[in-house]
Amino acid sequence: VSVVDAKDRLRQYLEQRKEMGEQDLVLDGLSVDEVLKVLGAPLMPGVAPADAAKAGNPRISGVHHPAQGSAPTQSLRERPAPPITKPVAAAKPAAAAEGEPISVGGSIAEIAGATHASRLATLQDVADAVARCKLCSLHGTAKNPVPGEGNPEAKFVCVGEAPGATEDETGRPFVGAAGQLLTKILAAINFQREDVFICNVLKHRPPGNRNPQPDEITACSPYLLQQLSILQPRVILALGTFAAQTLLQTTRPIGKLRGQIHRFYGVPLVVTYHPAALLRNPNWKRPTWEDVQLARRVFDNAVGA
Ligand code: SF4
Repeated sequence: VSVVDAKDRLRQYLEQRKEMGEQDLVLDGLSVDEVLKVLGAPLMPGVAPADAAKAGNPRISGVHHPAQGSAPTQSLRERPAPPITKPVAAAKPAAAAEGEPISVGGSIAEIAGATHASRLATLQDVADAVARCKLCSLHGTAKNPVPGEGNPEAKFVCVGEAPGATEDETGRPFVGAAGQLLTKILAAINFQREDVFICNVLKHRPPGNRNPQPDEITACSPYLLQQLSILQPRVILALGTFAAQTLLQTTRPIGKLRGQIHRFYGVPLVVTYHPAALLRNPNWKRPTWEDVQLARRVFDNAVGA
């Protein structure tokens, strides 16, 4: 793997981190060997991975080595997305060849009765349960629950990863600059924000916008599943890498998930970039436009059907 390739992979990784609004780069939680593997940097023959890093391979401040013993705080997004909850994990994605659409689960009816949130009959019930929830530690660090908001009859659902700072302050999803851009994106396909439902996989903010941990996703995803079970959407728009990879249980990069109609418990799912990413990378505006046009066409076709 050439140095150019390694730089390109590092650039892609950094873009993903920025996409989620992270300002500070912390790469601990991975061994030097793991980071070098992700970057595709060649190891020196006969040199232990840690020594190779010291000897001239990419030098990355904050890389955690197991021998150092410090607690990991973050992980790379290129790691496999953890299964979002037991029922979903039981319904592994149908084997999809590289480049083919992914299908997770059978039908939305499978969710009924399958999770700790199944008894919640309405979106307000879900929001109330989220406000009381202590199933993971995030309730202790977040200021407000952010269960999601929108039209209780919505058939178009936008799903992001987790609340950020502004969302944590307000208790509302996708507010601030990225949220305003999402509102414009929706308007471009003739949806008002009030027409759709907007939420995240996680309902409380991870401290410092760090990556959600697998146990947090496992604990929290039943709320999202129940929201989807109540709404019975015609289309899900997954916003950003982590939401897409988590819902579809894949490590495929977002560039290879876009432009296809995947299935999440039978519901068509379209992937696009996170609005925060667009604010920093105008080159993604056109593909995002194409993605949301696709989502709108799928929605319209479902209405027609
Ligand atoms: S993030 Fe989800 S599982 Fe964790 S406390 Fe909040 S609602 Fe509960």
